[in-house]
Amino acid sequence: MLRFYSHLQDHAKVVLMYEQMQGCGVRPDAFVYPILIKSAGTGGIGFHAHVLKLGHGSDAFVRNAVIDMYARLGPIGHARKVFDEIPDYERKVADWNAMVSGYWKWESEGQAQWLFDVMPERNVITWTAMVTGYAKVKDLEAARRYFDCMPERSVVSWNAMLSGYAQNGLAEEALRLFDEMVNAGIEPDETTWVTVISACSSRGDPCLAASLVRTLHQKRIQLNCFVRTALLDMYAKCGSIGAARRIFDELGAYRNSVTWNAMISAYMRVGDLDSARKLFNTMPGRNVVTWNSMIAGYAQNGQSAMAIELFKEMITAKKLTPDEVTMVSVISACGHLGALELGNWVVRFLTENQIKLSISGHNAMIFMYSRCGSMEDAKRVFQEMATRDVVSYNTLISGFAAHGHGVEAINLMSTMKEGGIEPDRVTFIGVLTACSHAGLLEEGRKVFESIKDPAIDHYACMVDLLGRVGELEDAKRTMERMPMEPHAGVYGSLLNASRIHKQVELGELAANKLFELEPDNSGNFILLSNIYASAGRWKDVERIREAMKKGGVKKTTGWSWVEYGGKLHKFIVADRSHERSDDIYQLLIELRKKMREAGYIADKSCVLRDVEEEEKEEIVGTHSEKLAICYALLVSEAGAVIRVVKNLRVCWDCHTAIKMISKLEGRVIIVRDNNRFHCFNDGLCSCKDYW
Ligand SMILES: [Zn+2]
Ligand SMILES: [Zn+2]
Repeated sequence: MLRFYSHLQDHAKVVLMYEQMQGCGVRPDAFVYPILIKSAGTGGIGFHAHVLKLGHGSDAFVRNAVIDMYARLGPIGHARKVFDEIPDYERKVADWNAMVSGYWKWESEGQAQWLFDVMPERNVITWTAMVTGYAKVKDLEAARRYFDCMPERSVVSWNAMLSGYAQNGLAEEALRLFDEMVNAGIEPDETTWVTVISACSSRGDPCLAASLVRTLHQKRIQLNCFVRTALLDMYAKCGSIGAARRIFDELGAYRNSVTWNAMISAYMRVGDLDSARKLFNTMPGRNVVTWNSMIAGYAQNGQSAMAIELFKEMITAKKLTPDEVTMVSVISACGHLGALELGNWVVRFLTENQIKLSISGHNAMIFMYSRCGSMEDAKRVFQEMATRDVVSYNTLISGFAAHGHGVEAINLMSTMKEGGIEPDRVTFIGVLTACSHAGLLEEGRKVFESIKDPAIDHYACMVDLLGRVGELEDAKRTMERMPMEPHAGVYGSLLNASRIHKQVELGELAANKLFELEPDNSGNFILLSNIYASAGRWKDVERIREAMKKGGVKKTTGWSWVEYGGKLHKFIVADRSHERSDDIYQLLIELRKKMREAGYIADKSCVLRDVEEEEKEEIVGTHSEKLAICYALLVSEAGAVIRVVKNLRVCWDCHTAIKMISKLEGRVIIVRDNNRFHCFNDGLCSCKDYW
């Protein structure tokens, strides 16, 4: 009976039966103990004592069970002691095998290797343990060497090598080995299928998936729930969400948490947040992985606020502790929102709960602080890191770029090279953008020329830089010399440069290209109409407005938000929905009076920026960023930095007004628009009026 339950892996039952046996006064013999010890987990240590007392200590099977228990559960030294006490001639290959696996488990590669070398005889289990061991330490060449040398191989040996490849991201190798296996006439078992299907999922190749499914059908394989879950995951990753859902529904009561999680992340991957949420709400036994895929899913689908809400729910429930994966999503979400208070709260949560971050966690923090407009904190996190990778450098460089800190970006790239890390495509984009935002033409040129094989985005940055400093002819020539077809980003740079330098013809050229490439992007229409307006060509302004109407181009609603009291306060143009609206508008009127006294004149061309809805002059005065700033002035402490996030480019009038407000009110005002950061201080902006 004991052996029967042990075969079923029903360990609790084995231990229970043993207790019943004792209750009946039956003395267990040496046959019982190996089974018991195998089943009892750490409780086996107690049985070890029994065995010694009863004099079964020198029974070969009992001894092997004891070695195996200590080898699996530790301390490995205890296993070695029992092993060493066995006389040489009595030591069985199973004892050696238990020790070899044990040393691999406890990461003593040298000991495992040594035992393997001195063993008097080896069997297929020994060899397989070596393959598994080397795969575990990611030395796949060594693993393959042992695999190739094996005198005979079981399906378990093949599986060991397969999962070695699969788990180390070598999907190609795994699939090739699987072919070899089939050709060698080895019948794959369920573990093989799960491994191969997962390897196929990571490739995300629908054709490969289909051919694998055909093989499964041809061989009439009985699919257990593990294989079916692996299939579900494969369909999900290859984009066949319907097929994935069918398996999910068929599995019914056989679903486990892996099945649920695979389905939820499948929905998240295709951006079907509602279906993901529905499953999440009904899922029994949610674990950290479940929460992580929901939180990351919201964050990656632009729903940062939802991601943070869900994180708050998770920690309020107190059933599960967030791990690094959770925190990286949450930290990044704070960065996307530009919510510094929230970001600081999350960082405090990390310390309070002693959640350790790896490099990617720290990189997320650098990103968060940069996007929240606090480069000081971003730099501090960077400096405190023990080791940094290329992403750490790139993230900080992009931060410098967005803030227009050109020299710092260039210097950091040099430091990076000195530290032995080669700049990559992203590094160069960051540094060139930084040069552009800081107007550093010569430095930018040098960087551009140092790129071996410039990609399209590098050309876009260069065109942007030339355009911004007024070298429009050069910008156009650079574009014409590009070895590839320019994309919208390149023309976008040219269009914006034409706006800054009031170049109507060049603007028209760029805009007409953009209307073809991105017919739905209202921003291009508005930029061109601004160019016409500033040249006084009102008829053309009218024509653009008509074209937009005819093309059904919807203007993106502009909004701005500020953070206060743990909440984001969001405003749109002429917004009156906020509870402090009356006070906000009162302050706005007072400010306008003060500004006029200081010589401010509203810029009328900005009225025309918003061609569709806002034509009255007073509406310029109620652009969302102005409302957000007034609210911040009302609620924040005197002298505190004001941080605003805006989804569109700041208009001329707001830019001028904010400069004056910063001087009149004695405040630093940091505005993140969709292009860069503007740091307003004492009447000036860090962008030097080019953006
Ligand atoms: Zn404005
Ligand atoms: Zn500015």
